[in-house]
Formats: sequence, structure tokens, C-alpha cells
Amino acid sequence: MSINTVAAPNSFVRGYEAVIGIEVHVQLKTKSKIFCSDSTTFDAADNENTSPVSVGMPGSLPVLNREVVLMAIKTGLALGCKIREKSVFARKNYFYPDLPKGYQISQYDQPTCEHGQLYFYVNNYKKTVSITRAHLEEDAGKSTHFGQYTLINYNRAGIPLLEIVSGPDLRSAAEAAEYAKTIRDIVKSLDVCDGNLEEGSLRCDCNVSVRKIGAEKFGTRVEIKNLNSFRFIEKAVDYEIERQIDSIESGTPINQETRLYDPDKNRTFMMRTKEDADDYRYFPDPDLLPILLKSEDIEKIRKTLPELPIQKSERFQFTLGLSKNDSEILTSDRMLSEYFESCGQISGNYKSAANWVMGDLLRELNQNKLTIGDSKISAKNLAELIQFIDQNKISGKIAKTVFTEMWQTSKSAQNIVDENGYSQVSDTTAIEKIIDTVIEKNQSQVAEYRSGKTKVFGFFVGAVMRESKGQANPDVVNEILKRKLES
Ligand code: ADP
Ligand code: MG
Repeated sequence: MSINTVAAPNSFVRGYEAVIGIEVHVQLKTKSKIFCSDSTTFDAADNENTSPVSVGMPGSLPVLNREVVLMAIKTGLALGCKIREKSVFARKNYFYPDLPKGYQISQYDQPTCEHGQLYFYVNNYKKTVSITRAHLEEDAGKSTHFGQYTLINYNRAGIPLLEIVSGPDLRSAAEAAEYAKTIRDIVKSLDVCDGNLEEGSLRCDCNVSVRKIGAEKFGTRVEIKNLNSFRFIEKAVDYEIERQIDSIESGTPINQETRLYDPDKNRTFMMRTKEDADDYRYFPDPDLLPILLKSEDIEKIRKTLPELPIQKSERFQFTLGLSKNDSEILTSDRMLSEYFESCGQISGNYKSAANWVMGDLLRELNQNKLTIGDSKISAKNLAELIQFIDQNKISGKIAKTVFTEMWQTSKSAQNIVDENGYSQVSDTTAIEKIIDTVIEKNQSQVAEYRSGKTKVFGFFVGAVMRESKGQANPDVVNEILKRKLES
């Protein structure tokens, strides 16, 4: 399978090239936290989902959640990573009130997944990005500041995160946003994360530096933390590239620091200077055993991986003939792609299935704020509707009405067509009769047509369709009309 792609255009800005690497924190969709049995529900009351382990009571001990490791392995494999047979948890020491133990349990030099890569399409070129590593860690609590005082909610402390770190391979804001989207699509398709950026289930830190065109050495990087939408990633990175060039051009070198993006002002501002790894005094956590995996077990998990969104999208384009845009939208959600495929398979008409799903169905779902799982029309019922059109049982116009009724009543297409007598008239005798009446009633237009003003043909088609209440098969109408008018 191949795709017609063009080389990446150069994305130089004012004589500089941007270099971007992204860290994505993926919140894993487990029922309980990574090191204790606290629930991970999103809507719990403040500090409801806590226990001695998650608030760091002295003497409490962590116990690793097996499900977390399975999800990490699945994701690592999907990202083409090597899964280490031995990985180790480490303590990352820093002091902050939302981190009650004084250290975060993370992985350091022996992460569960490393050395992977993925590809995606930006406009029409293919971009490959290396994955340096994907390591497990616990989330911290959440501080809310009120002037003089601060409240802390530890519900989030201990929620499992998989931090996916890319190589410094991205070269533009558009590539950065598309990379993040690709990660989102992958973790959603694996069902390891709900992919909800707004709720913080996927948090992106973008590291940005610039260098003079042709320079080999990377510039000093700045990290923009916690970007929670693809649009913000694009805007923040674009802003940061310009800011860094301005700064260098005016003689102020870039400092390694962490910045935040303010979407209202569309600018980044400094949050803190960046720690180096040394500042964290990493060391192996003595409370946790290493994770030991057998290669047979890893291979067993590999066999359970679903087809990934990018590959599915390529298949939709090259074997089903869908457009790139349709394929990308249909594969951005696994349930949606499954609905589409089953509808295409049952009806035998993938193109039409794509049109109905992308058009009428998504419109209804969006208007009613529903997801495909809540669709009022099953894939099988929509397929039946498509077959009726293809068999000339109903016209395209009537199909729209049937669709609306199907949505409202969840009845099958067959039921609705039967109850309303929508079945399209393909019976030539019936159509011929209608045409005879129309010709009879509109003699002056007939004369016009016969004198060469063939434009009135449309008038006749309209009249016949009206007379048949939209149920006459248009192909048959066209054919008979032509024959009668020209005889
Ligand atoms: P830290 O934990 O300090 O954030 P990581 O190694 O976890 O460091 O992440 C570094 C990220 O920054 C990676 O995504 C990497 O690709 C990227 N990166 C490293 N150097 C540069 C640079 N000079 N310019 C842009 N991105 C960089
Ligand atoms: Mg990091």
C-alpha cells in the first residue's frame, strides 16, 4: 500500500528553523489508582478518592496496579516501542504541597517502553517522529489558590499516567498539533485513555527551540506546559517560535525555562526556570519491586492490538476509495469507524455509507450532543436504507425523509417505507401514465421542447416527480420522458 505524498515543505521562519519535542501525559483509564485501590472517578467530592497511600502517610506502602502495566505495554507496542523486560520505578524528588510524599513515583533510566516511532500526515506529506520513551508515573494532587490561602484536592494524586516523550523531531506548529492528535487517536483506539483534553486526560508539554538555518546544534529549549487543546498547541508553538527569534535577534539569549500559554492574550509567559534531571535526585524506589516481563507475555499482548487509526485511515482510502478527510474523521473514533464499516459491509456500498455517516448521521449526533454509541439508527438499519436507494426502491429524496423518521422512531427503513407507502415507483406502466397526463396538460411546453428549447425538459421532470409525490424513479422518468417528447 502506498500513498502519494510530497516531501515536507521547509518551515523556516525568518532565517530560523524550529525544533520541537513533545511530552504527552496520558491519563490511563483504570478503575483504581496506580499504587492503591482509591477510585479514579472524575466527579467525586473533594478528597473523597483518597487513602493513606495517596496522601503519603508515613508507613503506607504502594502496591502496583497490574492493569496499569498492561495498558502501558499496549500503548508502547502501538507506538512501535521496545518493551523492557525489566523496568524500575524511581523517586523524583521535589517539594510542592500537592505532592505529599515529597517525591513523585516515576520511572527514570529504565522506563517500561522506549525507542519507538510513529507517523502521520500533515496536509499531504508524511511525517515520522521518534518516541524516546513512554514511562509510568503517578499524578500529583490539584491546588486551588484563593488569595492568602490554598486548598488542595488529592483525588488526582496517584492517578496513573503514561508520559510519552517524543524525540526533538517536529519542525512546525502544524506538525506539533498533528502529532498530539495522532497520540490522542492511538490511546483512544486502544481504550487506555478517554482522550478528553479539556478534562485533562491528555496533557501536552511542548518543548520549543530555534536554530539558524543550517546550524546543527539545537538551540536552548523552552517548555510550554499543560496545553489542553490542539489549537492551543499550534498557537502557543507559533507564538513561541516568533518570541524566541525576536529575543535572539535583539541580543538576548534564550533561557531554559518553563512557560505557560494564555489563550486569551495568545502569548506565553514565564512560570519558572527549568530544573535539570540532577535537581530531582532520582533513585530507585525501594518500596517497589521492578516490573519483570517475559517476552512471550509481551507477544501475547501484541496479538490483542486493534488496527491503529492511521493504518485504518490508509485502508479506507486505498481499498475502499474514501477521501483522506472522510477517512481521517471516520477513524478518529473506533466506534464510529466500526459503525461505518459494518454499514458499508452490510449495504455493499462503502461510499454511500461514508456519505450518510459523515453527513446526516454525524449532524444528528452533533446536534443532539450524542456519540455514535447512542445513535438512534443502527448500522444495520442505515445499511438497509442505503440498499433501498441502490435498488431503486426509494428515491434519494424520500430517503432523507425516511432517515429523519428512522432517527425519530428508531424503526427500520423497511417499516417506515411500508407504513408510509414510500416505495418508489419503478413500474414503467405507472410512470408512463403519469407522463402522459403531464404531457397532455402542458401542450405549449411540449411545442417549445419540440421547437428546440430543450431546457424545458427540467420542467417536465419536476412536474412528473410532483405528480408521483416524489416516488417515481428519476432514471425511468428521464428515459420515458425523452422518448415521448421526441417521438
Ligand atoms: P524533561 O523531563 O526535562 O522535560 P525530557 O527528556 O522528559 O526532559 O523531555 C525533553 C523533551 O524536549 C523531549 O520531547 C525532547 O525531544 C525535547 N527536546 C530536547 N531538547 C530540545 C531542544 N533543544 N529543542 C526542542 N525540544 C527539545
Ligand atoms: Mg519530562
